[in-house]
Amino acid sequence: MSNKYKKSEQLIQEAATHIPGGVNSPVRAFKSVGGSPVFMKRAKGAYLFDEDGNQYIDYINSWGPMILGHNHPNVTEAIQEKLQDALSFGAPTKLEVEMAKLIKSMAPNVDLVRLVSSGTEACMSALRIARGYTGKNKFIKFEGCYHGHADAFLVKAGSGLATFNIQTVPGITAGAANDTLTAAYNNLDEVKSLFAQYENEIAAVIIEPVAGNMGCIIPQQGFLEGIRSLCDEHKAVLIFDEVMTGFRLAKGGAQERLKINADLVTYGKVIGGGLPVGAFGGKREIMESVAPVGKVYQAGTLSGNPIAVSAGFATLSYLNENPELYTQLDRTGELLKNLIGESLFKKGIEHTINQLGSMISVHFGEHAVTDFKTASESNISLFNKFFHHMLDEGVYLPPSAYESWFFSIAITQNEIEKTINAINKFES
Ligand SMILES: *Cc1c(COP(=O)(O)O)cnc(C)c1O
Repeated sequence: MSNKYKKSEQLIQEAATHIPGGVNSPVRAFKSVGGSPVFMKRAKGAYLFDEDGNQYIDYINSWGPMILGHNHPNVTEAIQEKLQDALSFGAPTKLEVEMAKLIKSMAPNVDLVRLVSSGTEACMSALRIARGYTGKNKFIKFEGCYHGHADAFLVKAGSGLATFNIQTVPGITAGAANDTLTAAYNNLDEVKSLFAQYENEIAAVIIEPVAGNMGCIIPQQGFLEGIRSLCDEHKAVLIFDEVMTGFRLAKGGAQERLKINADLVTYGKVIGGGLPVGAFGGKREIMESVAPVGKVYQAGTLSGNPIAVSAGFATLSYLNENPELYTQLDRTGELLKNLIGESLFKKGIEHTINQLGSMISVHFGEHAVTDFKTASESNISLFNKFFHHMLDEGVYLPPSAYESWFFSIAITQNEIEKTINAINKFES
């Protein structure tokens, strides 16, 4: 049998001699699913093409940013046009003002917004601001949620840390992690207890309003509402980490979709349309503690970079002008959920599918998946087998049972059918 991944296998061996694990971000490795990662060469719409010439339907979309599909003409043209002016100034530009106005018009509860270059930066800055604003140090995060790789967040974190079972991260001092309190997702009582135990010490609660880094986990009725009230009661800043959900679940992200107001919001992924952009924003009073207005320092040489922002601006503008795209994404999500469910049911494979809008995850197990613990209890080895089957059939899923799948507007009936046909051929 010919080896269809020959070039990728050669490349990962070479890569590993130059780059740790051969990858520049751990989730790209196939360490947990086995085998060697596929090296990508180009992409168009819903499809990826690898170095060996294989073609895949993309359910990762660069882990979220490519909501318009790959090489959307509006985005590539915007970048090409901007390229002719300059790459970077380190001085303010008109486009940044337009971008801030656009973000504010789409997202609720954003009076002031600052651009950064990644989701990690957005979250670590938001936490610093919440601490500076409240004068308190501790914060609550949820087990299995991922807020980027800043020290304080790498406690019971999701994404690659869940995939590779990294419980504690060497290099993070006790001091850096000391003020990180954790609770189980969807468990309001634990949040209540923490507020009671650390009266007047909690600066913030940070949460993925729909979690996407331990599979897709939907907040149960009353959970986020309860956190909102607790934050009000205890004068803590509620930070919604919308790096994944922002501009994906609705124009106004999870805030709009779930009708809950956060005090600070962080963005990444879709906001850059495939180039490095992140943002944090929120209530004027809190945001005015940021330098140069206030003393909470936060900065970036390439923050608001014209090329990156042009890609983000084109992406957000397209979503803003075509709100029916969200209805389309919802319909695709529901269809996938139903059809995948039907296919697995016919095979007698126990499963749970969580889905909201264009986020979906398939867990092999019969119980509901509502938090990190229940996500961990699903059949991971079956997922790994499923992953490789789908890859061989030309469907590119996240190489981890702990990641949500993200699809784009480029997925049509045709791609849905191909995906379901691939699942129909799976033998557990
Ligand atoms: C991806 C992600 C981050 C980190 O963003 P980077 O751009 O990778 O630094 C933070 N929070 C959430 C919810 C994410 O999904």
